[in-house]
Amino acid sequence: MTIDAARAGESRQVAFLDLKAQQARMATALRARIDTVLAHCQFVLGPEVQELETRLAAFCGAAHCVAVSSGTDALQIAMMAEGIGPGDAVFLPAFTYTATAEVPLVLGATPVFVDVDPHTFQIDPVHLEARIAAVRQAGRLRPAAIIGVDLFGQPAPWPELRRIAGDAGMFLLDDCAQSFGGTLGNTRLGREADATAISFFPSKPLGAYGDGGALLTDDADRAKLYRSLRSHGEGETRYEVLRTGMNGRLDTLQAAILLAKLDLFQAELDRREQIAQAYDAGLSAHAVVPARVPESISAWAVYAVLLPDGISRDRMQANLRSRGVPTAIYYPRPLHLQPAYRPHHDGTALPVSEDLAGRILALPIHPELDDADVAHVISSFELAIRTGD
Ligand SMILES: *Cc1c(COP(=O)(O)O)cnc(C)c1O
Repeated sequence: MTIDAARAGESRQVAFLDLKAQQARMATALRARIDTVLAHCQFVLGPEVQELETRLAAFCGAAHCVAVSSGTDALQIAMMAEGIGPGDAVFLPAFTYTATAEVPLVLGATPVFVDVDPHTFQIDPVHLEARIAAVRQAGRLRPAAIIGVDLFGQPAPWPELRRIAGDAGMFLLDDCAQSFGGTLGNTRLGREADATAISFFPSKPLGAYGDGGALLTDDADRAKLYRSLRSHGEGETRYEVLRTGMNGRLDTLQAAILLAKLDLFQAELDRREQIAQAYDAGLSAHAVVPARVPESISAWAVYAVLLPDGISRDRMQANLRSRGVPTAIYYPRPLHLQPAYRPHHDGTALPVSEDLAGRILALPIHPELDDADVAHVISSFELAIRTGD
């Protein structure tokens, strides 16, 4: 599309996310699934929950899947199962969603923030090793766990993270909240760490109609613990309490909705990849397009570019908005600078995370965008960069 065509098309409104259109596409299957639940009325841990667990485990080749109430609760249950608490250091990237840091703090552990790679935005393994060495040397905390985050749909550097966690005898958890469906070396994410947490928040690539999440693991003992912890620490019978747990179950209705969505998921992932490639081709002359983690396919939860020096992000956003192109900022502030987390940070500078927060910009990417929407985003972006206002 030419710039003139973009001008002519200024009235087009692109959606940042379009759950209504997605719903219309699968209305019949969705209705049937919901009606089945309304008929059997097993609203908590009904048969759809187990069916979903089986399907999700098969989807990524994991031995076990335990569905839970949210991605955050998945992270928390995984950490509780390892007994992580006061005196433990949990290493995680500073450039991620707040839940990754919140969970260790809720359990009384200490988050240790690690910087990220300036190109892929994933946790930097070299900095991670330096941070672990520093914690060991200080001698106050026990290096207990690493949370690798698969940011924006792409995988964290798993081979390096496994080596580091293995050498140090630390628990390795994959925060795959944004990236379920993505691949590394031809295999789906879900088996890279000791356990993997996923989220079904509505805006994630596989989203429910409310909160939801799941844990994946190849370890039968861990899976058993996760089942116990999500139901108040119950034992073989419901009224035997073996440990302090939580109410962390996935609703049957959410499982039913996810089962309907799962049938379309691969086609949606393929469409996201197509859009990302179109954006790469159309935008690379005007901004830094996302660097790919080698041998991986992103689930494209987020397509984020870095704006060139001298371009105001505020003006760029306003400009794009006026042309019907919504944008978002993931993340405007790295976690170590958040008011709630700053007191738990040792003051180490994390320059890459701080720089990214200042100039990253996410564009709409979801399966309901048609080719004309994609062309409109590209031509609007080009025009906004050129005119600068
Ligand atoms: C969304 C998200 C979570 C939390 O998932 P919820 O289902 O919203 O609790 C955790 N970590 C990351 C990286 C996320 O993007």
